[in-house]
Amino acid sequence: MSTSSKTIGWVFFFFLAILIILIISFVRTPDPCRETITYRLGNVDERFNLTREEFRTAVNMAAAMWGKPFNRDLFREDPDGTIEINLLYDYRQEATDRLKKLHYKIDRSKGSYEELKSRLENLRAEYEQKKAGLNSDFNDYNAKGNAFNTETESWNRRGEVPQSIHMRLIKEKDELITSNDNLHARQEEIKALVDTINSMVVVINEIASNNNMDLVDQYNIGNTLGREFCEGFYEYKNGKRSITIYQYDNEYRLVRVLAHEFGHALGLNHSKSAGAVMYPLIQSDSLELTVDDIAALKGHCKIK
Ligand SMILES: [Zn+2]
Repeated sequence: MSTSSKTIGWVFFFFLAILIILIISFVRTPDPCRETITYRLGNVDERFNLTREEFRTAVNMAAAMWGKPFNRDLFREDPDGTIEINLLYDYRQEATDRLKKLHYKIDRSKGSYEELKSRLENLRAEYEQKKAGLNSDFNDYNAKGNAFNTETESWNRRGEVPQSIHMRLIKEKDELITSNDNLHARQEEIKALVDTINSMVVVINEIASNNNMDLVDQYNIGNTLGREFCEGFYEYKNGKRSITIYQYDNEYRLVRVLAHEFGHALGLNHSKSAGAVMYPLIQSDSLELTVDDIAALKGHCKIK
């Protein structure tokens, strides 16, 4: 054999070896239908007021939901688990929390979209009215303040201030201080109103983007919010798998959103059946898979 045909032979074997390795690693990729997928807890943001143990319980409940109809565990917690599960606090949770403190009812349905939207219109009207009132009172205050300063300066230049005028100026000064406090309190109130309005916009847009409905505009300037709204996210990137939960309204829904993301980890897509765990919107607090979810998994795994 010549040197060049030897080289070709080696190159051939080299590529054959790579091909064999690729085939083996492909075949060995964990298959949810045969192997149990492992997971581990990652970051649990303490601003949710949920302990790590409480979060673990929710994760375990969600994982168990998928195994129940099949009488075996599809997922198992393991310190070296493949899927990292995180609870990450962000503006979406902040918006939900703020509205909940104000006793707003949020259930992410189309009905609550309309209700929140009409309340948003009312709040915007209230904001415009209060803002206009505040602006005009600020102008009055500034005019009075300027007049007071001019008069005080002119008396100071003369040196002697008659007792009666001195008393009046002191009274006027007290009044100015009181109105300044009042104006600032109203300004704070308006700021809180803007916060509420913006929280509503976040929640409304979240419902809207999940339902292909119209988005509403963010109210104040300089508030750069993400465009995509979702409660949780499953990601398979650079060989790493993770589930991140951004927000939840109550413990049942936390389990539901975790179960939904676990479904994606199993390779399932969204369901068209409302009420299913794999439906893009969480519309129930039920902790059971629906017939549709079970059928989807059976179809995916070719189980009869
Ligand atoms: Zn999804």
